[in-house]
Amino acid sequence: MTRVFAAPDGSWRVMADTRSPLTASPLHRSVWVKPLPRERLIATLRPMRRYLQTAGLAGSPCDVAELSRTALAAGVTRVTPVGAMLQSYAGEPHDGVYALQRYSRRVAVQADPARFATTACLDDLARPVVLPPPTGPLLGKEDVQAPARELGRADAELYFRSGGSTGAPALSVFSYDDYDTQMHAAARGLLAAGYDPVGDRTANLFYCGGMYGSFISFFSVLERLGGVQLPLSAGPDHRATAQAIVDHGADTLFGMPSYLWQLLNAEADALRAYGGLRKVFYGGEHFTEEQRRTLKADFGIEVVRSVTYGSTDLGPLGYQCTESSGGVHHLHADLHTMEIVDLAEDRPVAPGETGRLVFTTHARRGQQLGRYLIGDLGREVPGRCACGRHAPRFELMGRTGDVMRVATYFLNHRRFLTLAGERGGLRGELQIRLDRTDVRERLTVRVEQAPATDPDRLREVFLSGYPELRSAVSEGLLDLVVEATPGASLDRSPTSGKLLAVVDARR
Ligand SMILES: [Zn+2]
Repeated sequence: MTRVFAAPDGSWRVMADTRSPLTASPLHRSVWVKPLPRERLIATLRPMRRYLQTAGLAGSPCDVAELSRTALAAGVTRVTPVGAMLQSYAGEPHDGVYALQRYSRRVAVQADPARFATTACLDDLARPVVLPPPTGPLLGKEDVQAPARELGRADAELYFRSGGSTGAPALSVFSYDDYDTQMHAAARGLLAAGYDPVGDRTANLFYCGGMYGSFISFFSVLERLGGVQLPLSAGPDHRATAQAIVDHGADTLFGMPSYLWQLLNAEADALRAYGGLRKVFYGGEHFTEEQRRTLKADFGIEVVRSVTYGSTDLGPLGYQCTESSGGVHHLHADLHTMEIVDLAEDRPVAPGETGRLVFTTHARRGQQLGRYLIGDLGREVPGRCACGRHAPRFELMGRTGDVMRVATYFLNHRRFLTLAGERGGLRGELQIRLDRTDVRERLTVRVEQAPATDPDRLREVFLSGYPELRSAVSEGLLDLVVEATPGASLDRSPTSGKLLAVVDARR
């Protein structure tokens, strides 16, 4: 019935037995080999299920698949290849349970869905998040490029292009875990801004391809929220895009303002006749107040909010709540800390003053993205928001590059935009071009041509509303020109399609 094969030096022993019932092993490099026909496997093993733990299986892929099911059904809790029964991975369940499960409790809080529709997590309503204060030097884009090239495989799973429209593209590198954390944060922010995953039907109109992250990211966000999505992307065929929006009943648009503005203008008749658009969530740029009014008055759009405020390098940084307007955002305080430093010197600004925004991210594996100068200007918004969230608020005040040193003065593109919208009635886009003539510098404000556009009147508005500009012109240091031009001829980034706020042709 049993035959014993042993090593000549006694270092191992195999007991070959013709009987099936299980037997305790003598251990010490001695194994039993017993036959067990497949159809008797469950009947034989099941009575021993309290003692069964790991089964090592050898066989063809189909054998392993079939026998694994049978072994688990018989009471085995773990199946491995023969020879790997002693190996395990971090966090592997043991005896059929996760190691710490028996010490944990499952708890639940149910909040009224109607009153908490825009609240993804109760924590921030209860208390502020406290993260360690940022330390180290201020970093710019160049400072994070070189370390990103040295990342190991585990931290370098997803590559996005992050600007660099000329020369070698700058890249942002993510692990999928980091990406997932960020997409969940952006999803919470979208809920706060009034996106409704049950009711809204979204056309995703961000730019796609060329390693750009925006379309993919919002695809991921909508997937995580379980929202209805038409992944159209920012295509050049406005007619086909509008047709798809109408045919599939989209009521929500995600995209960059300059693209959405062009689409709505090009297909104004069809989209107004459709009348189904209700919400616009934008990113990458901003709508002017006049553009917002047009979206509401002409297209019946009720909600116009930031889809997220973020950057490719750092991911989502801020979100709008239903109480936020214009460029005001809450910080994603569970992921980042924020500082605001002076325009010229690396010191904090006084509370409420505009300065350069600096973010330190605390939720990134393998990369130190501390005290990162994002290139945006902003100011702190004091006090607790009416929405009840503790997360700090800031208001975006333009790009660092929007501040131009012209004719010895610092001029801000934002100021032109505000004056044109509020006092000049401009509804379209605006771009500033700087040139150097033989005698002095020239600042050309290029505004989108519309029936009501009046360049002379706009020039008066700028001069009367912007004292530094008025001084530069009256002192003979600067020529101010306002010209109306078709929207399509304004300069845009060749890769991302973003409207260039300032085109500096002096260099
Ligand atoms: Zn709020």
